[in-house]
Amino acid sequence: MSESWNKRTKLVHGGTRRSQYNEVSEAIFLTQGFVYENAEQAEARFIETGEDEFIYARYGNPTVAMFEERIAALEGAEDAFATASGMAAVNGALTSMLKAGDHVVSAKALFGSCLYILENILTRFGVEVTFVDGTDLDAWRAAMRPDTKAVFFESMSNPTLEVIDIKAVAEIAHSVGATVVVDNVFSTPVFSDAIAQGADVVVYSATKHIDGQGRVLGGVILGTRDFIRGTVEPYMKHTGGSLSPFSAWTLLKGLETITLRVNAQAESALQIAEALNGHPALERTIYPGLADHAQNALVQSQLGGKGGTVLSLDLKGGKEAAFTFLNALTIPVISNNLGDAKSIATHPATTTHQRLSDVQKDDLGITPGLVRFSVGLEDTQDLIADLTQALAAASA
Ligand SMILES: *Cc1c(COP(=O)(O)O)cnc(C)c1O
Repeated sequence: MSESWNKRTKLVHGGTRRSQYNEVSEAIFLTQGFVYENAEQAEARFIETGEDEFIYARYGNPTVAMFEERIAALEGAEDAFATASGMAAVNGALTSMLKAGDHVVSAKALFGSCLYILENILTRFGVEVTFVDGTDLDAWRAAMRPDTKAVFFESMSNPTLEVIDIKAVAEIAHSVGATVVVDNVFSTPVFSDAIAQGADVVVYSATKHIDGQGRVLGGVILGTRDFIRGTVEPYMKHTGGSLSPFSAWTLLKGLETITLRVNAQAESALQIAEALNGHPALERTIYPGLADHAQNALVQSQLGGKGGTVLSLDLKGGKEAAFTFLNALTIPVISNNLGDAKSIATHPATTTHQRLSDVQKDDLGITPGLVRFSVGLEDTQDLIADLTQALAAASA
């Protein structure tokens, strides 16, 4: 692979390792272990494992390594560690670097399981966590302490789609020497250059846009070679959160088409948001790509003007209207994934964010009428017609 290649070329050829058969499509090395020529070779490999040498699939595997190299090339990261799910990536990135007595500052608008790790798990081991409004730079500044070891946020939050200024928060965090960990799922690896903008560590749930076809769970942690091999790898390989070779293969094939899919989905999302914005059945249409979105200027500077593939619709009439709307949809499915080829509608208050207290939901803008809509690859006009008839049903 050449460093000078543009993203789309890296996504097709990056990381490819061919076996002695010179196959065109990447091979699935569906094996947990690797045979040594002799006892001396086994001993040598345990002392030092070379680039193209493997010991055990929990430590590494050729198909998984191809996926790691390809996503690292896309992200402009020195290295990557692939994980069994997005949550294994979030947990691995944070837990591998933190110890009792450390302080973490986190945005409060988080995916439910990310919040659980910060609020319920890390704190059990003596890590102190301060939550802030991620869009308020003064709040980030005020929360920093000399012992702040890490900062965590979703660069675009789920499900209210707030956009956080990576460059500004990284500057604030770096002033006290904290490591900036960004969950970049909603921004997508296609639109975001989080590392170039100051993130030290980027995590993805590969289950979302990287697979993009709803097949497997996966995740990845990206960062410097030192951080990935020195901090993350020892934690992950001994605690068992590694990605399976079959899932890695599925995700490698997903990377080949990710720019085409995500660009088409984002274009469709903008058209849908523009068509529905101001609809009488809606309290609000939330889409970062809309000019009236609170952080639209940041979308221009940080995401190349792309608002992502998800929009959220806040229906007048609360839960009853939201449920009538969901049940009236004929093309999208009711489910909880996102970034899929199939459009997916979700009611966060009763599903993905059910665990949150009413006060927390209120604070985060997760209203009873809020529906998260992940735009798929269907025809845009078909989706607009379907959403419009479902809104009419909900306001009848
Ligand atoms: C889905 C998601 C995760 C968790 O990923 P899994 O692959 O489901 O474990 C983490 N963060 C964000 C923002 C997500 O959307």
